[in-house]
Amino acid sequence: MSYFKTAKPFVIAGPCSAETREQTLETAAALSKMNVQLFRAGVWKPRTRPGSFEGNGPDALVWLQEAKQTYGLPVTVEVAEPEHIELALKHDIDVLWLGARTTVNPFQVQRLADALKGVRIPVMVKNPVNPDVNLWHGAIERLEQAGIEQVAAIHRGFSGYSSAAGYRNQPNWPIAIELKRRRPELAMICDPSHITGARNRIAEVAQKALDMRFDGLMIETHPRPDEAWSDAAQQVTPEALKTILAQLTVREEFTTDMSSQVQLEYLRQVMDSLDAEIIDLIARRMELSEKMAAVKSVCNMTAYQPARWREIVETRSERAAMHQMPKEFIIDVYEKIHHESIRKQLSVLAELNKGALTK
Ligand code: PEP
Ligand code: MN
Repeated sequence: MSYFKTAKPFVIAGPCSAETREQTLETAAALSKMNVQLFRAGVWKPRTRPGSFEGNGPDALVWLQEAKQTYGLPVTVEVAEPEHIELALKHDIDVLWLGARTTVNPFQVQRLADALKGVRIPVMVKNPVNPDVNLWHGAIERLEQAGIEQVAAIHRGFSGYSSAAGYRNQPNWPIAIELKRRRPELAMICDPSHITGARNRIAEVAQKALDMRFDGLMIETHPRPDEAWSDAAQQVTPEALKTILAQLTVREEFTTDMSSQVQLEYLRQVMDSLDAEIIDLIARRMELSEKMAAVKSVCNMTAYQPARWREIVETRSERAAMHQMPKEFIIDVYEKIHHESIRKQLSVLAELNKGALTK
């Protein structure tokens, strides 16, 4: 059983940074009375530009240790150097995490994995800053190969040039789902604080994660968020966290409710037969492609015709709009169909060319 699946959802909360002993203890005291499983606080802060607060280092580890002893909450910190691991272990830290700016660098991840050989501690791996599922998966594998058994992935969004949709780090749910598809047993945590960068949007992203069967949430919590030394706009008070958690709907993959099961079963059967029709129609479309290739061969036309592709994009997008379907989605689908159609035409042309050459 994964350590990160021992509560539903598994909640990690605490300040972006451990700023002072008082702030650390005050936050831990409040969270220890709530449904929170793990207390987080940044001790070494990876800041994008120099000159910002970079964490209190080993002093803060002492405060965390005191918070743990006083309030009984297990604690977690971000580590980015083998030396951080050594110090964190010396101070009895329960769980470690790798930040987005560390996961992006395989050399550094390997150095950390080497430092963890022979150590039994759960480790969480944030997604890298760029949307690359292999890099994220690779970092997890490096830790597993070093013998770390309890691993969780944290989706904290991906940085981009513009903050589209008003997010600080754009979530990429398909990438998180792909990782879940590859590693179904892996615990998946969502960090709506770093995704949104804005405290008023945390609840909506947290709910979306639970709707997608994420196992846990990491939410930055500070007694006086507006005064925080880092990430002020996205931190919430322990009181606000309590409200967010109380309002979440926790969903299950399966239900024991018979009437819902029957309704779903019916809808699935209809969907199965529609899918069969879709596949049969695509097959008919491919047959037409092959016939067209034979015509193109006779009059020396190319398999790929950019003007035709533009026309497909335009007309299919219009059709999709009639059903309120996003244009990008239908273009994606048609790119795949069109590629396959061109591949078929090229193989027909190659066969006919061969015939012509041997004549
Ligand atoms: C953090 O959790 O405070 C942090 C620095 O996160 P990230 O690595 O996601 O930027
Ligand atoms: Mn932060």
